[in-house]
Amino acid sequence: MSTPLYLAPRLEPRLASLLDDTELLHRLTRALGSPLNIVLPDQIAENVGRFQEVYEKHRLAGTIYFAHKANRSSALVRRLAATDAHIDIASLHELQHALGCGFAPERIMATGPKSPEFLWLAARTGVIVNVDSADELRTLAALVEKHRLPAVRVLLRLSDFDSTGVTVLSRRSRFGTPAASATVLLDILDKHRESLDFLGVAYHLDTIGAAEKATAFEGCLRVMNECAARGLRPRVVDIGGGFGVDYLADGAQWETYTSELTNAVLGRRPALTWQGHGYGLRNDGGTLRGTLGLYPAHRPVSGPRYFDELLATRGQSLGRPLATLLLESLYDLHIEPGRALVDQCGVALARVLEVRDTPGGDCFVRLEMNASDVSLEEHGVLMDPVLVERPGARGEADGDGPVGVHLIGNLCLEADFITRRLVYLPRRPAPGDLLAFANTAGYFMDFSADHALHQPIARKVAAYRAGDRWDWCLDENYWPITSTGEDC
Ligand SMILES: *Cc1c(COP(=O)(O)O)cnc(C)c1O
Repeated sequence: MSTPLYLAPRLEPRLASLLDDTELLHRLTRALGSPLNIVLPDQIAENVGRFQEVYEKHRLAGTIYFAHKANRSSALVRRLAATDAHIDIASLHELQHALGCGFAPERIMATGPKSPEFLWLAARTGVIVNVDSADELRTLAALVEKHRLPAVRVLLRLSDFDSTGVTVLSRRSRFGTPAASATVLLDILDKHRESLDFLGVAYHLDTIGAAEKATAFEGCLRVMNECAARGLRPRVVDIGGGFGVDYLADGAQWETYTSELTNAVLGRRPALTWQGHGYGLRNDGGTLRGTLGLYPAHRPVSGPRYFDELLATRGQSLGRPLATLLLESLYDLHIEPGRALVDQCGVALARVLEVRDTPGGDCFVRLEMNASDVSLEEHGVLMDPVLVERPGARGEADGDGPVGVHLIGNLCLEADFITRRLVYLPRRPAPGDLLAFANTAGYFMDFSADHALHQPIARKVAAYRAGDRWDWCLDENYWPITSTGEDC
């Protein structure tokens, strides 16, 4: 076999310790079936602390809003409710869920376009409404006035920021109001000062480009200045999410993998993917074309560190770091991290059902899960699963070495590959072994899961330390208190 090309996941101590408890992982999948999702509520609390340290370092005031859509877990949201973080919800049911998990309306913000029912419950409960459009703002004002509700706090979500320097292009978004039309929103706010408590402006850009975010930030400051000139008193700038996660343990593996993928696409080495799939790259008569459509899985500047560097970024028109601009204006800074706040917060387990060699020399490993149960591929994240052998099944002495396998799912579909990539495992797996897809709490474990073929979707459990060992409960039964009612 050619040299194995690993993409080992980055594991912090808590998640690594859980994966070391192979007895527990096998017991859990025996009891609750495969696939199985495990979340680590204490990790989300630790991650909140790391973002708070960045606020402290820059002496900034403001609030962290967890973007709930990254994971459906109750345990994570309940544990989060016991921290200083707030929550960003984007649907009627997420709002109900957040309220039921212990978030008071003061700590909830509703984002995205809203249904009438969603807007009604938001106004009734008095959560912050991050307003998507002028129509939504008018409807909200009418609701408050008709039912004589207390004034609702609002943020205005803006998009399509002009860049004065031209070199930074601002991407178009189907969300929010174009910054150039902000005056329309301010007119509405002016008219409804009694019913709308205007907090400030917001953006969320689904990009990792710091320059683009700095441009958007400066666009927000311009609108804030316009507000002050009109006698409105907003005090918050919300810069959304998109802080990112570093998925891989070893940057060199990522470099090697992507350059070998290029070689494979150009036919200079055997394929690294099923049927030579190129992840966006193609061979055009010996010339490489296309662009690699993958998440930069090795991303050392991500999460809180990316936040820190973003605050040090200088915008093009004002020329000073974002943090300085915030300090001078005394505005609060709100952020909405999703993926980055659930970094290291979970794992998806799948049982190996069959290991089959084809006459063509491929090795298929069929799993008791399918591609929608662990949607790494759909999100362009390439990362190896961890092989969790059945306890005591084989000795170290067996000596069979690394093997390249294709991971296939439990749907009767030619296309149901967990990944189109050839995955290298340290040993040939056997039926009954588990593969653990680590660090999948952000979007990969339950965002896309469905009931195709009546296959069960994964159950979810929360794991936590009890003294010197791991303990667990069903996700829905987790509360951040001990069985005797003390705080965790
Ligand atoms: C999805 C989303 C987020 C979170 O994005 P991440 O990339 O997961 O940090 C934040 N804000 C809004 C409005 C979103 O839609």
